[in-house]
Amino acid sequence: MSNYANYINGQWVDSSKTTRNLNPADLSDVIGEFAQASEQDTQAAIAAARDAAPAWGLSTPQQRFDILDRAGSAILARKEELGKLLAREEGKTLAEAIGEAGRAGQIFKFFAGEALRQTGELVPSVRPGLTVEITREPVGVVGLITPWNFPIAIPAWKIAPALAFGNCVVIKPADLVPACTWELVKILVDAGLSAGVLNLVMGRGSVVGEALVNSPDVDAISFTGSVGTGRAIAQKCMATGKKVQLEMGGKNPMVVLDDADLPTAVEACINGAFYSTGQRCTASSRLIVTEGIHDRFVEAMVARMKQLRVGNPLDSETHIGPVVDDKQLKQDLDYIDIARSEGATVHGGELVELGTKGHFLQPALAVDTHNDMRINREEVFGPFASVIKVKDYDEALKLANDTEFGLAAGICSTSLKYVQHFKRHAQAGMVMVNVPTAGVDYHVPFGGRKGSSHGPREQGSYAKEFYTTVKTAYVNAG
Ligand code: NAD
Repeated sequence: MSNYANYINGQWVDSSKTTRNLNPADLSDVIGEFAQASEQDTQAAIAAARDAAPAWGLSTPQQRFDILDRAGSAILARKEELGKLLAREEGKTLAEAIGEAGRAGQIFKFFAGEALRQTGELVPSVRPGLTVEITREPVGVVGLITPWNFPIAIPAWKIAPALAFGNCVVIKPADLVPACTWELVKILVDAGLSAGVLNLVMGRGSVVGEALVNSPDVDAISFTGSVGTGRAIAQKCMATGKKVQLEMGGKNPMVVLDDADLPTAVEACINGAFYSTGQRCTASSRLIVTEGIHDRFVEAMVARMKQLRVGNPLDSETHIGPVVDDKQLKQDLDYIDIARSEGATVHGGELVELGTKGHFLQPALAVDTHNDMRINREEVFGPFASVIKVKDYDEALKLANDTEFGLAAGICSTSLKYVQHFKRHAQAGMVMVNVPTAGVDYHVPFGGRKGSSHGPREQGSYAKEFYTTVKTAYVNAG
């Protein structure tokens, strides 16, 4: 028996199969037993969403506003409690986790407003007597597949626009972090959603995720996760004619120029590389530093890293929480070994023993690296960054763009000329100037280029590109 059931067609539905969700900072702390949905459960959830779609698609903007706004208020009122749950299940610090929970609340408030802000266009026809109306309609049933590293914000930034624009939802959270999505769904149910409009199916990607992706009754899939999984999903979506949106990995550069303000650059790089245990798609993993500031920068980074306290996320003195699980920890340690075997010098990167059994790792900085090394091509997804020394801005820009990814790119400089040039020529969806590559606002578009993203942007007013479909109507009123 689970103590967290799936939610299908307005009912909490248990399963004989469960997974146990553990706290990565204390493996004796069990967060709960979560029901694992079967393929049949997933089909039932899709059928319920399909049945509910016509009525929800015709609900008034006011009805949608009221539910999303109530949900946003409930999340904001409970952000400390939800943040604590998030810190326990994923491992980011309590301050980061409360911030993420608050952001989820703000996202619901924003999309409550978006439900009211929908407009169309009235265009004169080129033919006499006709007018043309351009309107947006819901896509229908959307399947949402989310990763483990933002357990409440990513489900929120997919569920909120999906519902705001009149779609019905089947959501599958990452197996490692189902608790936050479960709480989010409960809040939305309590806010007054009708049966079938929102369905939760927790479980394995190979069972639940595949069933969503292959179903002819799902109109669109929004996925966030790794490149391999995303590309395989895209192919299946093409085969079944679905709309698809993918947000995937990154290998984000942070360029530090000779004229940078050193303390600003160091803080931006420490935050971008190591906060949230480096487990962010927007993490600054390649620090590309010009030779005039390189040695001072490395010295300051290493000194600053020594002040970072790795520990239990619930302890207010902790700066860096644990790695999410043993598999990710092994991946991080393997890349530290690869860095050394490729000729880099690694500062930090030691395992940390604490009073509880958990996956604690010191941040690691690889220096004397070049852009062709595996550690600079592949996403590590841990508290690991490398420094690449370059001659000047031109070489820095060239290497910043020499990657298969294109999510975020940063520059630390006091030169208007270089900053302006970088903003225009960085091949990334998001450019950050004198701020970390990670950390974004909730009311503006989010997404990348090249191997990082596929399909329309998420968040802000741009979210409607994915969650609506455009209709052009020709009217002869004569
Ligand atoms: P993942 O690809 O392993 O899993 C993501 C989701 O896909 C999970 O819910 C998983 O169960 C599901 N899944 C797995 N196999 C599936 C299949 N065959 N069919 C359908 N669904 C399947 O990724 P992860 O390890 O959870 O997350 C880490 C990755 O996410 C990193 O690469 C990171 O960069 C990326 N990420 C990207 C963004 C972004 O917005 N660009 C944000 C956060 C994380």
